[in-house]
Amino acid sequence: MTGIPDLAAIEAMDAADPLRTMRDRFDLPDDLIYLDGNSLGVASKAAYGEIEKAAREEWGQGLIRSWNTAGWFDMPVELGDRIGRLIGAAPGQTVVADTTSINIYKALHAAMGLRPGRNVIVAEGGSFPTDLYMAEGVASTRPGTVLRLEGVDAPTIEDLIDEEVAVVLVNHVNYKSGELRDMAVLTEKAQAAGALVVWDLCHTAGALPVDLDGSNVDFAVGCSYKYLNGGPGAPAFIYVAKRHLADAQQPLSGWWAHARPFAFEQGFAADAGIRRFQCGTQGILSMRALKGALDIWDQVEMAVLRQKSIALTDLFILLVESRCGGHGLTLESPRDSSRRGSQVSFEHENAYAVMQALIERGVIGDFRAPATIRFGFTPLYTRFRDVWQAVEILEDILRTGAWKDARFAVKSAVT
Ligand SMILES: *Cc1c(COP(=O)(O)O)cnc(C)c1O
Repeated sequence: MTGIPDLAAIEAMDAADPLRTMRDRFDLPDDLIYLDGNSLGVASKAAYGEIEKAAREEWGQGLIRSWNTAGWFDMPVELGDRIGRLIGAAPGQTVVADTTSINIYKALHAAMGLRPGRNVIVAEGGSFPTDLYMAEGVASTRPGTVLRLEGVDAPTIEDLIDEEVAVVLVNHVNYKSGELRDMAVLTEKAQAAGALVVWDLCHTAGALPVDLDGSNVDFAVGCSYKYLNGGPGAPAFIYVAKRHLADAQQPLSGWWAHARPFAFEQGFAADAGIRRFQCGTQGILSMRALKGALDIWDQVEMAVLRQKSIALTDLFILLVESRCGGHGLTLESPRDSSRRGSQVSFEHENAYAVMQALIERGVIGDFRAPATIRFGFTPLYTRFRDVWQAVEILEDILRTGAWKDARFAVKSAVT
């Protein structure tokens, strides 16, 4: 791209987009510019179909029989393998269960159990907070555990890794800035010191390709309600490398993790495979919405998705900087697309009010404290002309000072 594209050039980009027909599969009003699929992905017609079928036929008519006849029991591992394809995990290492927070708890405990004699968890000061809260929770049940944080105890995560470290918990894409870490390099560095790594893929799965097996990752977790479009509160996933499965123990040893759940034995005996990372009965209706969403993902080539994601985010940065200069916006995301996930963040002194004004005008992004406006770009249903239109509206709000209206300063519980 040379210079700044005009609307005709942008329409040509949409016409040439190999993913352009994907939007039709989603239930998204034509005039809504939804740049928040990194918080809650859009509903798909396939998801509606699955929920309806699961409720009316399988629950309504099949009742208890559906655990066998509709494949409910095996769904967590089946869907896990389908997510596995998107994150470079061969079958048998990924299971859909619980929430990301709970899966962080399981993974950290399992990793520490695999590294007896080491008592340090390394994480990022700038991590998504629940990761740190869960690490604190793990530390509280394992006396002597020490938490070392990047940005607090040393400037970079690499500086914190030594032979006392059991596990490094790290976000692949930072939720706020969108900064992307080099998975293979950091994994190797941690493993060279004898530590294990847990990668949090919440802003990766469905956003960009990764190769967990190829990067020799130990553990990974992630949610399915963001880029994967699984629905509000959809179940999360956890990946455990095959080489660890026999020895990795997680503490939430519920009956779904048992080798023979329906033998109703008295003592716990873990399943030999990835099922040992389940705990109890899962929300099947939620799982079915995710199944619908994955029917779409099964047809997506992640390299093609990444190419469009980079084009969308590059275009957004170019247009904002060329059209909204002088209005107090500072790019917070890496400018280099190879170091950026599928989102763009800007800092602004009045970020909250600016975002509220955008939302009222039909451009939905979100605000992250203290001063970030964040825009997620989801290549399956975001068009290049949405990017153009979003910048038009942003420029108007900033130039006219429309965000200064008092109603945009009122804070809701969820931002
Ligand atoms: C969204 C997100 C979570 C969310 O955790 P839940 O248990 O699903 O609420 C965790 N970690 C990161 C990095 C996230 O972006």
